[in-house]
Amino acid sequence: MKLNKSNYFSLDADRHYMSVSQFKSFLPVYGGCEARAMAKLHGEYVQKETDAFLIGKYVHAWNEGTLAEFKADNPSLYSSRGSTAGQLKSEFKAANVMIEKLESDSLIMKALAGQKEVIFTAELFGLEWKIMIDSYQPNFTAAAGIFTDLKTTQDLNKLVYNSLLRQYEHFIVAYGYNVQFAVYAEIEKQATGRDEWLIPHMVAITKQDPPDKELYQFDYEDITAALNIVRNNIDRVKEVKSGKALAVRCEECDYCRSTKRIIKPKRFAELAVY
Ligand SMILES: [Zn+2]
Repeated sequence: MKLNKSNYFSLDADRHYMSVSQFKSFLPVYGGCEARAMAKLHGEYVQKETDAFLIGKYVHAWNEGTLAEFKADNPSLYSSRGSTAGQLKSEFKAANVMIEKLESDSLIMKALAGQKEVIFTAELFGLEWKIMIDSYQPNFTAAAGIFTDLKTTQDLNKLVYNSLLRQYEHFIVAYGYNVQFAVYAEIEKQATGRDEWLIPHMVAITKQDPPDKELYQFDYEDITAALNIVRNNIDRVKEVKSGKALAVRCEECDYCRSTKRIIKPKRFAELAVY
């Protein structure tokens, strides 16, 4: 299956290829659920498009240079009633402020330059993977190339509680962005036949008022460590996706809640409260 921008996010592409977001969608440690991931692949579950999701897409459209089309294609960005009818909703006015903050920072703009939304595919751990790089600069300097991903997030400094591991984590770890960058670096290297990884960068902009921003860089040690997370978990994902193993329900996510059936009473004495 040959990928392009119009079929990259299709169900067919997700069935054929593994992606970082699909990999994470199987893993409870990233808020994933095997049953929901499989329902999605079977076309039985569609993730709701929240405003938070749309803000991310809005800022990405700016980075790609397609914000005008994006606004024209998404009337839900605009208020439809009251004295503000026809104006951008307040959260997207805030997204414009986020964009201004990025535009006013020369180092961030340097990291975000280059070719936009570049697709690669390659094999990794026995599966075909697809990646789409936000900003691609393989010849950033004579010595090294970089790629950059743009993230909108809540707060750069607030730790995220992982209820499964019962610990606080940096948002980059909690949301598996380190895994994303490692897989991107490895797939790009294989797809191009390059000897060395490009240096992954991440531009983060927060939805706070005023927005905070940061430019993160990942080292080769970070890539190696995060590839090990994939290595240690991919066999189970492979088994479930191929149908060889039964998908486990998390009984917590929106999909499990909407399809929940009570088989027997839950004994109070067996609840693990502490
Ligand atoms: Zn679930």
